[in-house]
Amino acid sequence: MRIVLVGPPGAGKGTQAAYLAKNLAIPHISTGDLFRANISQGTPLGLEAKSYMDAGQLVPDSVTIGMAEDRMGHADAANGFLLDGFPRNLGQAESLDDYLKGHDLKLDAVLDLEVPEDEVVKRIAGRRICRKDSSHVFHAEYNKPETEGVCDVCGGELYQRDDDSEDTVRNRLEVYHTQTEPIIDYYKAQDLVVTIPALGKVSEVTERAMAALKALSE
Ligand code: ADP
Ligand code: AMP
Repeated sequence: MRIVLVGPPGAGKGTQAAYLAKNLAIPHISTGDLFRANISQGTPLGLEAKSYMDAGQLVPDSVTIGMAEDRMGHADAANGFLLDGFPRNLGQAESLDDYLKGHDLKLDAVLDLEVPEDEVVKRIAGRRICRKDSSHVFHAEYNKPETEGVCDVCGGELYQRDDDSEDTVRNRLEVYHTQTEPIIDYYKAQDLVVTIPALGKVSEVTERAMAALKALSE
């Protein structure tokens, strides 16, 4: 399956993607994780992305689209992928359509994780991620690691993302409403959007998403 996960920052896209990707045996492709890996490796792409990320702005399409397409072209994505955080504006959504058309492929679904803004703010405030792999995500209250400050998956150090500070989060929510939300209507016009209520336990949200995907293939 080829799936896009959409929702405000902190909605739980990365958290859900980890479980959904495992259940569906497809790779989890997060442009945010790809940028953070580039930053920690000190690549030119990482250096360019960092200033935008720290300001809570989108990294320019000229950088982002090529990086996402390159990742979708890896062998492990031949039978499907779960996109998390891409596309994030209409230009990226149109480029993704062109890319898929050019490869004779189609999206199966766009899962829209719906969470009230006050909950999103609480989720972001407590988010802790792993220094070794930013797809390993925890929460200081709601999803605690077994040992404080240590990643359950790989033993890496947990830390708070620089862009999870209060000021940057305000910008990121604004960017979400103005630039990303319009892609939901774009995909509604293609009849691809399934809204998933994303309050409740992580496992409950995963069950809702899996049930919605199963219903699509029946
Ligand atoms: P996104 O990828 O959409 O920005 P994350 O998956 O990183 O969001 O989740 C944001 C924070 O919320 C993380 O700290 C995560 O552990 C926590 N979280 C995710 N899903 C839930 C949930 N259903 N209930 C409570 N906290 C959650
Ligand atoms: P995320 O990990 O999805 O919360 O993304 C963190 C930051 O990375 C965002 O605030 C943006 O600065 C940048 N980013 C991630 N994905 C994209 C994208 N598709 N387009 C532009 N910028 C992105």
